[in-house]
Amino acid sequence: MYFEMNTAVNSIEKIAGCVKKGYFTTDPEILKYYSEDFTEEEPRMPSAVAIPDSIEELRSLVQVAYENSIPIIPACFMTNMGGLCNPSSVQEVIVELSRINRIECINEKDMIAVIQPGVTWAGLAHELNRLRPPLGFSYPLAPVYSSVLACCILDGLGSLSLNHGTLSELVGGMEVLLPDGSFVKTGMGAIFPSNPNFWLTRAPLPDIGGLFIGWQGTTGIVTKLSIQLWEKPELKKRFFLLFEKAEDGIETLSSLSRHFGLCEDLAGISWPASRYLFGIFDKMKLTSGDYEFFAYVDIGGKSHEEIMWKEREVGIKISHIEKTSKRKTTKVNIEDLIKIAPSLKPFSVQPTTLNFLINHPYGGITWVGAYGPVSKLSEGVKEVTGIMEKAGFPPFFVSRPMKGGHFSVLRFISFFKKNDADERKRVRNLNMEIVEKLLDSGFVPYKTPPWAWSKLLEKMDEGAKNLMKKVREILDPHGIMNQNKLALK
Ligand SMILES: Cc1cc2nc3c(=O)[nH]c(=O)nc-3n(C[C@H](O)[C@H](O)[C@H](O)COP(=O)(O)OP(=O)(O)OC[C@H]3O[C@@H](n4cnc5c(N)ncnc54)[C@H](O)[C@@H]3O)c2cc1C
Repeated sequence: MYFEMNTAVNSIEKIAGCVKKGYFTTDPEILKYYSEDFTEEEPRMPSAVAIPDSIEELRSLVQVAYENSIPIIPACFMTNMGGLCNPSSVQEVIVELSRINRIECINEKDMIAVIQPGVTWAGLAHELNRLRPPLGFSYPLAPVYSSVLACCILDGLGSLSLNHGTLSELVGGMEVLLPDGSFVKTGMGAIFPSNPNFWLTRAPLPDIGGLFIGWQGTTGIVTKLSIQLWEKPELKKRFFLLFEKAEDGIETLSSLSRHFGLCEDLAGISWPASRYLFGIFDKMKLTSGDYEFFAYVDIGGKSHEEIMWKEREVGIKISHIEKTSKRKTTKVNIEDLIKIAPSLKPFSVQPTTLNFLINHPYGGITWVGAYGPVSKLSEGVKEVTGIMEKAGFPPFFVSRPMKGGHFSVLRFISFFKKNDADERKRVRNLNMEIVEKLLDSGFVPYKTPPWAWSKLLEKMDEGAKNLMKKVREILDPHGIMNQNKLALK
């Protein structure tokens, strides 16, 4: 049973006493920045924002919220793209974790780091690059100021996903603050609670860490998380493959992904990206001779010989694919590509971030991202790009094989005029249709927004649904944690 929320002003003010002066506000001018994200989700005001600067402050805040049944949303930098930190009708207090940002330890020998929620991608990369030899992690295309921890517990994807799968697969032990204000350690952290240097894996114990991964902050607040690091290849090379037909590109990437470890990363993007990078957002169309799909291929190694060998192997595989399927692939080195199209320069920087996704004239960006079978990629792309074009949106998508080709990601992205209510509605309807089509093709949306959860629940096994409800009720009996996400009520 979920309790009725008590958001009376005087009980919310008790939260103010848990954080330092100046880090609690109910000022509507400030709250409005927390009322929305980049997407079409309707803005809703939170009742307050609190920004604790230590795990101790966070704990006292959660205890007050629990005792007074005050709904809260744990948030780091709110870039998740699924409205997962957006307030709901109960006007939660947003608990921003950006100042709880210590790297607890980097254990170079065993290749793990233990991080707090506010550690950013830029901050982590800075520390790891200083090590000798430098270690790396699976970097996403996400804003560099966003949270590593949040991305890991949301099953995000990054530059090592081709070989290692989602970021949650690189998570070891954790420390979690439960809604009642008590702490739990998971994985090897359960056996060595005070020595994070040993929080190597979630195995070999029952995986209670799974109670906090994929739950969108509804079961507890992860305060420390161990991530597995990887030795960075000393040398790296990136080149591009261009395809006249998207289907050919997708099939080629899928074949390459099966050769485990040959490539460091593989990612394919459809043609509208090449227009966006030139600052063209309107009236775009594919003209004859244009490439429909381009992909970047990263290879890495310890020596020039290893790089040359890998590049040759990729070439042999592509020739084989060309011969057996009559597909045509054009290979271009990144340096040559930038000479022809300087706007593609962002792709030469690693880790790559694509700023045009958030700096563009429309104001709004939204997407449906899903994990699903490699065998259904071409079908999914064909059907969904058809839906996008029919709705008047360019067929912009990203496709990446994951974990040696065991599954893959498809992400369909649309820009829209954020201040235009009709356009927001239009893009929401489009996303709904995309989710339905993807589910029919065996794809499951990740970082699933509340509106898409209702579609998942229509399909979901009753046993799974009931167990998830029970888990939430046991861990959060007062229903204070991000309660309107996962739409399980
Ligand atoms: C342009 C762009 C590109 C992107 N590219 C990628 C990409 O390539 N790969 C990818 O995976 N993502 C990508 N993202 C999504 C997002 O940026 C990343 O997942 C990011 O790391 C999330 O961090 P955040 O600080 O924004 O999390 P938030 O949005 O603040 O939080 C996300 C969720 O986690 C919960 N949460 C936050 N902290 C905690 C905690 N300590 N304990 C429990 N729950 C918590 C929140 O309640 C919420 O449900 C992209 C986003 C943008 C805008």
